[in-house]
Amino acid sequence: MSLPRVLPDAVARLLPHAAPPRWRAAVDRAAQLLAPSWGDGDPPAEVGLLVLAVAVLALDQEPAAADTPTILAAVAEATDAAEAGREPLPLRRRGTAALAAAGQHDPTTGAWTPLGALWRDVLHQWLPEVPTSDIPPAPSVLRETLPPLRAALARSATATAGHTPAPAPEPSALRTVFVSGMIRRVTPGAALPVRCDTCGAHQDLILRLDGPTVTVRCPNRHDTYPNRLDAVRVVQAVRHHGADPAAPAAGIDGHLTVTVHGDVRADPRRVFALD
Ligand SMILES: [Zn+2]
Repeated sequence: MSLPRVLPDAVARLLPHAAPPRWRAAVDRAAQLLAPSWGDGDPPAEVGLLVLAVAVLALDQEPAAADTPTILAAVAEATDAAEAGREPLPLRRRGTAALAAAGQHDPTTGAWTPLGALWRDVLHQWLPEVPTSDIPPAPSVLRETLPPLRAALARSATATAGHTPAPAPEPSALRTVFVSGMIRRVTPGAALPVRCDTCGAHQDLILRLDGPTVTVRCPNRHDTYPNRLDAVRVVQAVRHHGADPAAPAAGIDGHLTVTVHGDVRADPRRVFALD
């Protein structure tokens, strides 16, 4: 079974409680523009929402008031560069500067908040280990995301032509998940339990979600920040296990299985025929 990608989950991932108002407005505007075409196409729509929100944030206008043609023009300019095989350097620069102005990146120390780090990861380019290698750097996720993002925006524009745009969807409410069994991360080769970094506990855990940050609290009240647990995948896993992410808290009786790769919509328990 697979469930659809859910836009409110992706919106929630971009909105930690400490997010500044200008960033909230940019995410709202991006979600409003993508909602009519959400869920279609690859790469993951979650990345498209992030890229569009940063593009809106980087405009000179107030995000809430940014007009659609201006946003589309900014995406089109960057997409033209991507389709010509170049990194969209102006968007990279302006996006990073806008996130720095919003307090999500410190150019002096190079530090990023968890929210800013989503953008850093989107900018990342694989480089050959040998500096003199003639192998070119790999394209960034940003570069690969822009063409399908522009296509999704075009589909949305067609779907909403002549209508008043609907307001942006509210972020999903889920913040706390009580798991009586283990939390298992499914990677391509294994399903490994999340353990407390301090005492090794791996049952009766509490998952906390705050934007992109996923925290696991053990019965001895230690907090662990497990690698590679993505907030959208956690919410999707909770949905697959039969709990309702529309509520602020959910309880999982037994194990919670979360994928760290592959189709975000797939039932994590079916990936390795678990449970
Ligand atoms: Zn512990």
